[in-house]
Amino acid sequence: MDINIFEARSKVNEKGFLDIDVNPSLDLFQEIERLKKEKNAILLAHYYQEPDIQDVADYIGDSLGLAQQAAKTDADIIVFAGVHFMAETAKILNPNKKVLLPDLKAGCSLADSAPAELFRRFKEKYPDHLVVSYINCSAEIKALSDIICTSGNAEKIIESIPEDQPIIFAPDKNLGGYLNRKTGRNMVLWNGACMVHEIFSLEKIMKLKMRNPKAKLVAHPECEEAILRISDFIGSTTQLLKFVVKDDAQEYIVATETGILHQMQQDAPTKTLIPAPPNNSCACNDCPHMKLNTLEKLYLCMEYETPEIHMDEKLRLASLRPIERMLDISRAAGLIG
Ligand code: SF4
Repeated sequence: MDINIFEARSKVNEKGFLDIDVNPSLDLFQEIERLKKEKNAILLAHYYQEPDIQDVADYIGDSLGLAQQAAKTDADIIVFAGVHFMAETAKILNPNKKVLLPDLKAGCSLADSAPAELFRRFKEKYPDHLVVSYINCSAEIKALSDIICTSGNAEKIIESIPEDQPIIFAPDKNLGGYLNRKTGRNMVLWNGACMVHEIFSLEKIMKLKMRNPKAKLVAHPECEEAILRISDFIGSTTQLLKFVVKDDAQEYIVATETGILHQMQQDAPTKTLIPAPPNNSCACNDCPHMKLNTLEKLYLCMEYETPEIHMDEKLRLASLRPIERMLDISRAAGLIG
């Protein structure tokens, strides 16, 4: 083995990825396709990944779609171009498969907003409550939960629970508040939020709406209530995509991570898509965790099969149960095949 690779492997946990140079003359698209075939690997990518990664993926989706693909694949290796909790979910569902993540440090501010020990103590205050957790959380939080949900199935999951059953919803307070308003429940909310969806600027969006009076505002339910209240449509990333494709307007202001614009523009090439501006000097809103993955890191992790996700079996089994409940309820509701 090349000494550089040997050294890079030994530093993978510290750096998060294989820090070696990639030959610039390589056609990485071809290389990744070759590696997929040679290794019987499937490449799953989240909509928030950079366009090059989306273009080379076997499946692009949001958390619900990706979890479903991970649950049914017969590939030997799952390469997950997304963030850590997503690759971890794939491993929970596939203990005997190798699950690779291009950069182990691709985390999630929302998942980080719920440390397991604090959440355990919080949960103890509500012993008669059922815990529904958004999939954007660590395996430890999943293990403390009764049912997992995604933004695509959250409403159905909540509605499947008897009305007199009290519920804790974690970790996203914005999604939880939206669900409370939608379902008429009064769920106890954990005070977590996503750094990307929380910083959209109401003032800048209002100005954008004034300058583009025909544009419809579409928003992810992780956005703050003030943004959701003025939105024309609220939905998961996949639901936003489907809405923009089917709807008869021509212009949309899109309040979610900008990665989705790539797929939206491909599926609705004649429509004008305007990224909703955040509360800082940037014109659009990228997730810094999602964008840690690059085509080079993706190629390297497939070539050398590292970084890999490993999980303690006891934790895996405890976190599997609420994910399976989510998949069962989603299947029964006709949300997945
Ligand atoms: S967009 Fe928000 S919820 Fe999604 S991975 Fe980034 S920080 Fe986490």
